[in-house]
Amino acid sequence: MYETFRLAYYAQSYQTVPMIGQIIRMSGNNEMNQDFIVIGAGIIGLATAERLLAQGAAVTILERGKVGQESSWAGGGILSPLCPWNYSDEVTRLTSYSASLFAAWVHSLHAASGIDPEYEVSGMLVLPPFDAHAAQQWCVAHEVKVEKNFSVPSATVPSFPIIGRDVWEQDDVLLLPEVAQVRNPRLLRALRSRVKALGGHIIEQCAVHDIVTGSGQVQTLTTACGTFSAQSYIVTAGAWSKQVLGQHALNLNIKPMRGQMLLFKFAAAPLRPILLQDNLYLIYRRDGHLLIGSTLEDVGFNKQTTIAAHNDLFERAQRLVPALGNMPLMQHWAGLRPASPHNIPTIGRHPQLDNLYINSGHFRYGVTMAPASASILLNEITGMPQPFDVAPYRAGWGI
Ligand SMILES: Cc1cc2nc3c(=O)[nH]c(=O)nc-3n(C[C@H](O)[C@H](O)[C@H](O)COP(=O)(O)OP(=O)(O)OC[C@H]3O[C@@H](n4cnc5c(N)ncnc54)[C@H](O)[C@@H]3O)c2cc1C
Repeated sequence: MYETFRLAYYAQSYQTVPMIGQIIRMSGNNEMNQDFIVIGAGIIGLATAERLLAQGAAVTILERGKVGQESSWAGGGILSPLCPWNYSDEVTRLTSYSASLFAAWVHSLHAASGIDPEYEVSGMLVLPPFDAHAAQQWCVAHEVKVEKNFSVPSATVPSFPIIGRDVWEQDDVLLLPEVAQVRNPRLLRALRSRVKALGGHIIEQCAVHDIVTGSGQVQTLTTACGTFSAQSYIVTAGAWSKQVLGQHALNLNIKPMRGQMLLFKFAAAPLRPILLQDNLYLIYRRDGHLLIGSTLEDVGFNKQTTIAAHNDLFERAQRLVPALGNMPLMQHWAGLRPASPHNIPTIGRHPQLDNLYINSGHFRYGVTMAPASASILLNEITGMPQPFDVAPYRAGWGI
């Protein structure tokens, strides 16, 4: 038996414009017979849309500005919590599951889009001060590879002197050799291309203003470019998710947390592993770019950069990489992370509205958590088994 569903779009004049609607007919196989509107086109919205489209769903993404220009663009692309031993099991489970999916995911995106997200297992060097003993114990307990008194692989030796032997030969330096990184702006471009190739509609400059409900369901969305309706709705609006949900946010506690980054450019990649010291990290890119981050600032929806943050990041980074002193600053930017208590995102169905879902609040690790979060949401929508207990990711509604 086949069913048809139509994504209805009403233009600003409130006349029905059927071109944007998609008619899908299917059931009786693995494909999904639903249509979805995804609100927000950052890494989470795009990854979610991609998974739905791959299952045969019809998906439209509504984006307030341009695709992938907010937090997902601003981030560093480290695919791990900074000091993984400082986080709860809920964060570890999600980030580890994601790490197991990442390589295959980016390779498939690269193959399909021709855009290389530059996924690389570069390792991460953790510098004191931190509790190295506790860190090693945690790594053993979680089967995470860790090296102390490691020997630097010969291929990386030419770039290491830039750091200074005193830095990486300290007693309490640990190397997490399996930590990977990705060039997030490229990942976003590859994802966008993949979503479009799978038939997804992306509508930019289309802010969602209001979620209109009735009979325990979302009925329509009022937006800057008209009224939209679909069978199901997914909020992936990052730091703005609570605003988008309005009165339906219940006790959701997602708020913006500013992070500032500096960018320098060397002739060739100046460091191999990511360098981490407290909240300061240095990430090289293949073409010699070096990112330095980051601040954690509770200043609301304010994306201004500040001289104080620049000076603080630069001075601390220069102590590790003295060569920075001669380098011109290429760029300095800020992004707004979707901060949640304890870095635990909220993923799943709204407690009161049947056809409303959320995938948001990934705070410092949204790039890392993207493929796992999209999988978990897809499992919930399709009723497939979950890889682990996902109840903690429903707790964010606070009811
Ligand atoms: C400086 C910095 C460094 C970071 N480093 C890392 C890192 O190394 N590794 C890591 O894993 N994570 C990192 N992060 C965190 C990561 O970037 C975020 O967790 C992740 O990008 C969140 O993705 P998102 O799609 O939820 O949000 P966003 O990328 O912010 O996307 C949300 C989208 O929703 C849109 N939107 C908002 N309101 C509306 C509306 N009303 N209607 C329609 N659309 C709307 C926005 O325009 C935006 O495009 C970093 C973040 C920052 C700022």
